[in-house]
Amino acid sequence: MQLINDNSCGWINDLSPRTNVKSLDKNYDCEWLIIGAGYTGLSAARKLGQLYSNQKIILVDAQLAGEGASSRNSGYLVETTLNDGFTSNKKLENYKKKSDIYDLGIEVVKKFIKEYQVDCDWNECGKYFASSRLEDKKILINFSETLSKLDFRNNLVDEEELKKKLGTSFYNIGLYTKGGILLHPGKLVRAMIDTLPKNVELFENSSLINWKKNNDIILCTFKEAIIKTKKIIFATNGFLKSLGIKTNYNFPITLTASMTRPLTDKEFKSIGEPKEWGVLPVRPMGATIRMTKDRRILIRNTAEVHNPYKMDQSDLKKRSTKQKIGIKKRFPQLPDNIIQSTWSGIVSRTRNSSQIFEKIDENIFAAGCYNGSGIGVGTLFGEQIAIKASNEHTNEIETIEARKKPTCLPPQPFLNLGVKARLIYERLRARTEI
Ligand SMILES: Cc1cc2nc3c(=O)[nH]c(=O)nc-3n(C[C@H](O)[C@H](O)[C@H](O)COP(=O)(O)OP(=O)(O)OC[C@H]3O[C@@H](n4cnc5c(N)ncnc54)[C@H](O)[C@@H]3O)c2cc1C
Repeated sequence: MQLINDNSCGWINDLSPRTNVKSLDKNYDCEWLIIGAGYTGLSAARKLGQLYSNQKIILVDAQLAGEGASSRNSGYLVETTLNDGFTSNKKLENYKKKSDIYDLGIEVVKKFIKEYQVDCDWNECGKYFASSRLEDKKILINFSETLSKLDFRNNLVDEEELKKKLGTSFYNIGLYTKGGILLHPGKLVRAMIDTLPKNVELFENSSLINWKKNNDIILCTFKEAIIKTKKIIFATNGFLKSLGIKTNYNFPITLTASMTRPLTDKEFKSIGEPKEWGVLPVRPMGATIRMTKDRRILIRNTAEVHNPYKMDQSDLKKRSTKQKIGIKKRFPQLPDNIIQSTWSGIVSRTRNSSQIFEKIDENIFAAGCYNGSGIGVGTLFGEQIAIKASNEHTNEIETIEARKKPTCLPPQPFLNLGVKARLIYERLRARTEI
């Protein structure tokens, strides 16, 4: 499978182009190899770099580092989620286990940006779960009760308040949760690249084609070279399955998002000059929509099984039309042609929405499958899988491993058929919210 960089993502286009890009052009031996340089791989590399200042640590990505899902997401660093895939949040104990991981994820990102003085448009403004359907109030009341039992500050918000805060009268009911953070995902991941420890060598545009274990050595074949490593961490998230990692437990999903240009003063006034905000849908396939710090509107309202994973321009154009309609429904007073960029990104899902954090064989480790919480959880899992691979134990690992492991998926073609049918069903249920 070939991964190609493109220039479709608005977050990436905000950044200055990288100048120090190296690709693999000869063979290497190393102690540690990390495949995938998103939040997970970069975080694992940072930790290993700190733990083993005298060892050779290599980090490789098939495209430019950080330019996978880690730059392409909606930028919600979440403390709570309502629609974690299609698993209900019925059991308080399970919900607590999940939110304990989110808490740790927020802490680890917070620590990183404080330590390196990272500017990533960090805004502790909280977030809304909102719906245009009054009947969704029941879901939000139940959710609010769950959150309150776990001491998450939250409150129900009515139509009037939502209009004032968001600048749209589309929503009729919402729940505000105080602990969510909005940020610029591209700036965050770029800072993780720029601050890698000196003993971590990063190779980009170098795709791992196959790998095998040969006694104590893991032999990794790239197009241009071979790396022999003693230990390996797979941090390729949506591409875990294509590398033969936990193939019966995870599958890729393609998401698309669009972002407008900044609204003009007049346009911004026409929607009431709201402060930066983020809305998550109450129903799984509804739109995630956000007003950025610089008055751009971001919308993500598709999730699908798509092969090849990454979309070409004509595929993106179709998704962009859906996103234009999503914006228009909410902001009819804005012009039609304000979308500036539309992009796709790949995430990985499991059947029960649990994450992968595992030693999968001697000296072989993998972390991934965060659904919509990869900013915090990916950064946390990267750091902690590096510690686990060093045979150390932490309270964080205990918290991560207290959660249920992913459950086995049905075989193909039932898996694809099942996922597609479920996505269509959920899309129908959420049709007013797209
Ligand atoms: C549109 C969208 C919206 C999202 N919104 C949010 C959100 O608001 N909040 C949130 O927390 N999460 C969100 N997510 C999810 C989040 O982006 C991911 O969970 C997170 O980026 C995962 O990080 P990662 O480092 O594990 O994987 P990635 O960032 O996907 O990195 C994996 C890397 O592995 C590389 N790779 C793959 N195969 C190979 C190979 N064979 N050889 C070498 N390298 C390889 C890829 O090039 C890629 O760079 C969203 C995702 C998308 C796409």
